[in-house]
Amino acid sequence: MSAITLDGRELGRTIEKDLMSRIDDLKAKGVSPHLAVVIVGDDPASHVYVRNKEIACNRCGIISTRIDLDSTVSEQDILKVVERLNSDESVHGILVQSPLPPSIDESLIIDTISPLKDVDGFHKMNLGNLVQGDRSGLLPCTPAGIMKMLELSDYETSGKNALVIGRSRIVGMPISILLAQKGIDSTVTVAHSRTKNLADICLQADLIIAAIGRAEFVKSEWVKPGAMVIDVGINRVPDPTRKSGFRLTGDVDPEAAKNAGWISPVPGGVGPMTIAMLMSNTVLATEFLSR
Ligand code: NDP
Repeated sequence: MSAITLDGRELGRTIEKDLMSRIDDLKAKGVSPHLAVVIVGDDPASHVYVRNKEIACNRCGIISTRIDLDSTVSEQDILKVVERLNSDESVHGILVQSPLPPSIDESLIIDTISPLKDVDGFHKMNLGNLVQGDRSGLLPCTPAGIMKMLELSDYETSGKNALVIGRSRIVGMPISILLAQKGIDSTVTVAHSRTKNLADICLQADLIIAAIGRAEFVKSEWVKPGAMVIDVGINRVPDPTRKSGFRLTGDVDPEAAKNAGWISPVPGGVGPMTIAMLMSNTVLATEFLSR
């Protein structure tokens, strides 16, 4: 058996196409959705992510403004930029690209972004709404993209044993909350670095979400035949045959495709879904702010 590949690029474009009529309606009212992205320092991966976000904005007809700050910038100066964007009525979405330099308190920066413009969905207020079962607001983009991937693949989540590996604020924890919500109805296990017998727990799972950050960590033989496998990880591994000197791989051994029923590839799986959900959040924030 070979798994069905979940093509995040194609599914992401479907989401973006569905946004077009809402963007046209906003423009007809004289409102152009506008995303501002703040990037600090010169981390190469962050620059690639920000560039991909700008390209998606161009595709969707969303204005994008990029604010580049030096890696030596002070926390106070980042806060001033965020506050300026908060009060700029022409800006509807604000994203501060992670990671920030270690000297900067990332939570403080995120919680300074207006919750109405928090298109990454990481503000305490937006995460609080999610915990209370409200999925109508600005949801974190990667978990929301995974949920959309499951929905567009007609995957029935109700009653399934879902295993989320990773408990981060941006992926593992919010996706586990979403999967357990009424209406989604999975039975969720959250695994982390202290979990024992992970291989056995994996074998019980109908749905595995791997958000670990370790190349090809989940082995093919850990995957129950026919399981849905969503690979969130983006890992750079050395590859002297490539011009760049590295290749991207996920947290799941690609051999798992022989066992799984469905699998999301890396690259081309969760990454494009995350960007499509960022576009969706920007449109939602614009609609809300222009009411
Ligand atoms: P974090 O480093 O914040 O979290 C990693 C999680 O994995 C932690 O909860 C950690 O456990 C757990 N973990 C680490 N080692 C093990 C282990 N041996 N066994 C079980 N669990 C383990 O990472 P993120 O959640 O931010 O990101 C995870 C991956 O997803 C990364 O590769 C990242 O690049 C990628 N990513 C991809 C996105 C996309 O759009 N495709 C978006 C965001 C992230 P503990 O809590 O105990 O430390």
